[in-house]
Amino acid sequence: MSARAGIVVTGTEVLTGRVTDRNGPWLADRLLELGVELAHITICGDRPDDITAQLRFLADQGVDLIITSGGLGPTADDMTVEMVAKFCGRELVLDTELEEKIFAILKRLRARFTNVDLDAVRAANRKQALVPAGSEILDPVGTAPGVVVPGKPTVVVLPGPPRELQPMWHTALQTAPVQEAIAGRTIYRQETVRMFGLPESGLAETLREAEQRIDGFDRLEITTCLRRGELEIVTRYEPDAADVYAELLAVLRERHARQIFSEDGSLIDDQVAALLAGRRIATAESCTGGLIAARLTDIPGSSAYVAGGAVVYANEAKSEVLEVDPALIEEHGAVSEPVAEAMAQGALRRFDADTAVATTGIAGPGGGTKEKPVGTVCFSVQLADGPCLTRTLLLPGNRSDVRERSTTVAMHLLRRALLGAKDPALLED
Ligand code: ATP
Ligand code: MG
Repeated sequence: MSARAGIVVTGTEVLTGRVTDRNGPWLADRLLELGVELAHITICGDRPDDITAQLRFLADQGVDLIITSGGLGPTADDMTVEMVAKFCGRELVLDTELEEKIFAILKRLRARFTNVDLDAVRAANRKQALVPAGSEILDPVGTAPGVVVPGKPTVVVLPGPPRELQPMWHTALQTAPVQEAIAGRTIYRQETVRMFGLPESGLAETLREAEQRIDGFDRLEITTCLRRGELEIVTRYEPDAADVYAELLAVLRERHARQIFSEDGSLIDDQVAALLAGRRIATAESCTGGLIAARLTDIPGSSAYVAGGAVVYANEAKSEVLEVDPALIEEHGAVSEPVAEAMAQGALRRFDADTAVATTGIAGPGGGTKEKPVGTVCFSVQLADGPCLTRTLLLPGNRSDVRERSTTVAMHLLRRALLGAKDPALLED
């Protein structure tokens, strides 16, 4: 037994790339969590024949469930419900209760405007109250209702805007036809391990070894992904293969204890946030131009521990804002460990902080030299009451890669310094 699904993303703006599809990937994640196999995601423009063709294609693949996104509005290019009804061989019927509901929402939305012809609004939106006979209605989150049309395949029709589609998917999932369609799904467990500082080839070698050593290794479905310099290892398995997963985890720990920073899927940014509780951090950024401060403050509640930061791009700014001695810059160059350390110390003083992180580097494409090629970045993390970690790395990629990767390195150095304050062994390379 298994359950398979397909997703039809509609919208000319998505097809042409003007809007990046966020619904297909989001729904794919939800299906994965559920243990429903996703066969295809297709994208088509707002053309009736193309929508029908995709529905037919997916039905021909024998999927149990089709989810559509987009095309539920009141305008002429919104025609998904009509096409789905035709495809499922059901008539469109006017649901008067739904019509009133939509009208009430619209009246509230339009209340701010004067001179609105409510009869015209009602007529334009009557279309949205036309639903395939025998379908279940999903109440609008915006103004457009969704529908669940039972059958083989069952079709779930959802609106395009992600903030409407997401809550409505959860409602759709509770309906009997969707539960029936996905009844054959396999319940999986999923675990995520994250590592930093290990090349993908190193992990590949470890996995080859694990395959030799572990009985039943093929019961684990492992996907690895390199992102922002971090390796993510997602393993899916049926519950009775939990022992096999435990063995894999043991092999990973044995070979990569220092590189594993998360065994429960938690992200470095959240870990650093937790470690910063009760502290006060300041940033001193040159080549990252504020990206570290942005990442730190991306976390809700960060005002409790983020004091502030300085973007000190020019040498004069480094000296004037953070009191970096111009002679130090003269002697070692702006991209150097002594300058990174002086920047971090300056930030501690300037923001009256107890934790500081500094970056100075060459993001490129220009500015590289033989001694300090593009991608050279110096980092310094200073704790007023504890260790100072200073490192120079050569990071690969273009300007935006170097800047982004630098912020990730900075987060990991922060983690190490903060943990190292309690366990100095972690500070060794
Ligand atoms: P509306 O009532 O707003 O017209 P709708 O269900 O008809 O809703 P669409 O017309 O297809 O939805 O899309 C409306 C807007 O929602 C798009 O312009 C786009 O901004 C956003 N949107 C639609 N589909 C997607 C998608 N797959 N990914 C991200 N955003 C999307
Ligand atoms: Mg629309």
